Amino acid sequence: MFVRRTEKYVGTRELTPRFAQRNHMTPEQKEGTKNGRCIFSIDVEDWFHILDVPSAPAFCEWTELPSRVEKNFCRLLEIIRASDVRITCFFLGWVAERFPHLVREAQAQGHEIASHGYRHELVYRMTSAQFLEDASKAKKILEDVSCSTVWGYRSSGFSVTRDTPWFFEKLMEAGYRYDSSVFPGPRGHGGIKTTQFAPYRLRDGSNGLIEFPITVAGVLGRPVCFFGGGYLRLFPYWVVKRMAGKVIDEGRPVVFYVHPREIDTSHPRLSMSLARRFKSYVNLSTMEGKIRRLLSDFSFITFQNAVAENYFCLKD
Ligand SMILES: [Zn+2]
Repeated sequence: MFVRRTEKYVGTRELTPRFAQRNHMTPEQKEGTKNGRCIFSIDVEDWFHILDVPSAPAFCEWTELPSRVEKNFCRLLEIIRASDVRITCFFLGWVAERFPHLVREAQAQGHEIASHGYRHELVYRMTSAQFLEDASKAKKILEDVSCSTVWGYRSSGFSVTRDTPWFFEKLMEAGYRYDSSVFPGPRGHGGIKTTQFAPYRLRDGSNGLIEFPITVAGVLGRPVCFFGGGYLRLFPYWVVKRMAGKVIDEGRPVVFYVHPREIDTSHPRLSMSLARRFKSYVNLSTMEGKIRRLLSDFSFITFQNAVAENYFCLKD
């Protein structure tokens, strides 16, 4: 039923040198980031929501599995509360439906509620109609639970590619105002070859939808993300901090992203190849400390407030 799309990010030559100069940031945009405000986000899903491994449980099995998201997300909220920072929580619709109190708790603490879709499907494995249904369903669940309008969307695995040209149009049709799904570099799921590394407003039928690409830093001319997932766990904190500083100096905000399972060293492991196992589980024990230091070393704004205030001075 789902359409398999296989296009992956191809080559990095066009992304090579001089990241800052290729971001096309206007002086106003650079002014908007002069305080170096970044965005911290959580993709709120469970330990078994790992994509594209044969051992991952099917949707119909999820409710039978021992869930860890409640405990881990509450722990993350506790860590964040200690820093008095406001963040964006991209809830999987399925998680919000099962644990609506997590949405309400995050909201009560002043965090933004946003959508991570409903079933955690890769975008390029859905038809445009299936995607619209999934993104709309998640939005409705989150809005019903939070009694507020959901503005933001992030796809599972940043899986928007050149093979999903309908993606932004369908997001707009579902009523979203911004997206943070584009991974501007090579990636296992998705990735788009682009020179747009800073936030930008989409045109051509997207009704002003704003894209906040996942942040990459240039390393030997290649785009590398140090700010979420495996790389955030893999690299020592000083490397992450230095690369974040480099991005801020270039006039871009850093978008950090974490998952609740990443602070849980004893969660069950799915069986997978050695390479995937390394990427999925390396250095889990370092994450809590890194998150605490990030929250204390940088200042933050939620995606929603950045859009509402046009904080990054995006042109209409
Ligand atoms: Zn996810």
